[in-house]
Amino acid sequence: MTEEAFDVVVVGSCMTDLVSQAPRLPKAGETIHGHKFFIGFGGKGANQCIQAARLGAKTAMVCKVGKDFFGDNYIQNFKDNGVYTDFVGQTSDSATGAASIIVNSAGENAIVIVAGANMLLGIEELHKALSAISHAKVLVCQLEISPQTSLDALRMARENKVKTVFNPAPAVPDLDPDFYRVSDVFCCNESEAELLTGFSVANVEEAHRAGQELLKRGCGSVIVTLGPQGCMVLKAQESTPKHVPATAVTAVDTTGAGDSFIGALAFYMAHYPTMPLEEMACRANQVAAVSVQAAGTQTSYPFKKDLPVKLF
Ligand code: ATP
Repeated sequence: MTEEAFDVVVVGSCMTDLVSQAPRLPKAGETIHGHKFFIGFGGKGANQCIQAARLGAKTAMVCKVGKDFFGDNYIQNFKDNGVYTDFVGQTSDSATGAASIIVNSAGENAIVIVAGANMLLGIEELHKALSAISHAKVLVCQLEISPQTSLDALRMARENKVKTVFNPAPAVPDLDPDFYRVSDVFCCNESEAELLTGFSVANVEEAHRAGQELLKRGCGSVIVTLGPQGCMVLKAQESTPKHVPATAVTAVDTTGAGDSFIGALAFYMAHYPTMPLEEMACRANQVAAVSVQAAGTQTSYPFKKDLPVKLF
């Protein structure tokens, strides 16, 4: 695989999820026994990249992990999923990003996230990946790394006429306005749309209103994902927002559904550049609906072979 040939390049985060299941959450200073422990691969950037790769996109990940067991393990996970890893940097200055998660028997959780090496990804790494970024079909960024690095990557892509998808997650209230101007597709969920606009986003109509506000700020198109209600698509050239309903399924675990949706969207943008955005969103809804029917994050993401041929 050459650096120039990528369908989707993701500049973003990697996190190792360390999950303990216990009867209850411990109090400060207390030690309790749990009954199950597992390690999961997460981080919004990596999740989105892996979903795109599983659908058949040639993908490269630009990220930073620690020079530690979790970093080595994560690189292997990318390789196992066919993701190009030459732009995955390893540093001794910080540990691989980790989320320590305790889940009680009621399904409630307590989580500590340490972004670690993710925050050390910067302009130097972007320059190393410049050829891949500037020749990609689609670049995807989020906000789990330094916002400046995401913005620099989006600008680099834009300067080279590469289509950009920006997912403002986790949302910040004071997002640099340049993020809107460098996003061909600005894709957020309901709570992110609420935080960014200050409007309530609890139903399709409210999502339309928030989408119109986000569009005014300069992005090409806006998608607001709405969980079991699917998503709302709004294009700059068209004044009417379109509601694209989700597939009705029995959800088991919706963790990472938004990343599955964005990874799928990036795949469709790269493979079918002339397909209407609503149709891409409709297909991404169907991919994400498969992901909510199994437990875990990346473990629930479907491969091309698991999906109906009509999605390709
Ligand atoms: P997460 O933070 O859990 O990754 P999110 O809040 O970013 O998710 P959502 O809007 O909840 O993202 O979901 C993303 C997409 O996943 C939806 O647009 C839809 O296509 C699909 N989806 C989510 N929940 C369901 C569900 N219960 N049934 C069917 N599809 C779903």
